Amino acid sequence: MRTLHALHGVASLALLNLTVVLLASCSRADNDVATYRLLAMATWVDITLPRDAAEREPELIRSIETELRTFERDYYAWGDGELAALNRALSESQEFDASEGMAAVLGEAQAIARTTGGAFDPGVGALVERWGFNSDEADRGSAARPPNEAEIAELLAATGSIRDLAIDGPRIRAQSGRYTLDLGGIAKGAAVDRILARLRAHGVTPALVNAGGDLGVAGEPAERSWRIGIQAPRSDGMLGAIALRDGEAAFTSGDYERFYDVDGQRMHHILDPRTGLPVNHTQAITVVAANGTLADAAATALFVAGPGEWRSMAEQLGIDAVLRVDASGAIEMTAAMRDRFQPNR
Ligand code: ADP
Ligand code: MG
Repeated sequence: MRTLHALHGVASLALLNLTVVLLASCSRADNDVATYRLLAMATWVDITLPRDAAEREPELIRSIETELRTFERDYYAWGDGELAALNRALSESQEFDASEGMAAVLGEAQAIARTTGGAFDPGVGALVERWGFNSDEADRGSAARPPNEAEIAELLAATGSIRDLAIDGPRIRAQSGRYTLDLGGIAKGAAVDRILARLRAHGVTPALVNAGGDLGVAGEPAERSWRIGIQAPRSDGMLGAIALRDGEAAFTSGDYERFYDVDGQRMHHILDPRTGLPVNHTQAITVVAANGTLADAAATALFVAGPGEWRSMAEQLGIDAVLRVDASGAIEMTAAMRDRFQPNR
């Protein structure tokens, strides 16, 4: 999503080659970092690194792109990668031996689905597909015809929850029910974590990985902390900026990136797995968490949770910094978020 922008160290573009762009630094204080940009997972991914990283670790920098390409194929339910193969196996009642990375993400997704009572549940894949939010063209909308009540009831009845999936080491099996697993609510966070872990292992810090506004950091720039802007859901402006510390991630779920209107009502890509309908009480949720995987899934879950439930659900997830914009545009946030939030005036 475009919800957050790294305010730090990013200014103008200079093309280096077809896929990697160096964002030149604007101020003297930023001369120590460079930002690479590539298009992956249907969004711009900006990676900010120490300026000498490409000289020190050319292979590492190149391999990040390969890893992102593999990620966007393997964690997309409707393509020809690992998750698509897993869904085929589940639909044929067969066991599936997942890669270590996939099994880990499924395990985390299952734990978060259980903690949130299914507010976050990648089992919603068949519904996401029927609503037309499984591809970029679909959310442009005019061709989409929303499902009627009977179709939704039918899809809900045929939707298996990831809470009931048998995950035994790498072995994945449906105990009952039908599955179309969609990891769209957590995969970007896992990708950000994986890249940051590799950069950290090579000593390439401070680093910031920003996947279209959803981002994580490793290390901290000298004498300052990371500061990132939070996109306003109904304008091009920013709501404000928040500070991030070493190891943290900030993810936003919003209703303003993938949507279409039907009779003046906004249909968007975050569904309540209990009703099968797009959630209509929230415009945006921003979450700061100890890693991207949790931040990503938690933002989706708290978006679904709604006014009466989001604070207690955040506590259960172990997350203290949350900002919510409700359907009327009113902003509310936790005390821990207030401590690090600087509103735009
Ligand atoms: P973004 O698309 O900006 O990363 P999210 O992280 O909130 O936003 O992910 C939304 C995506 O997650 C949807 O496009 C869909 O693929 C999937 N999804 C929708 N509703 C749910 C849900 N309740 N639980 C888990 N995944 C969901
Ligand atoms: Mg998410």
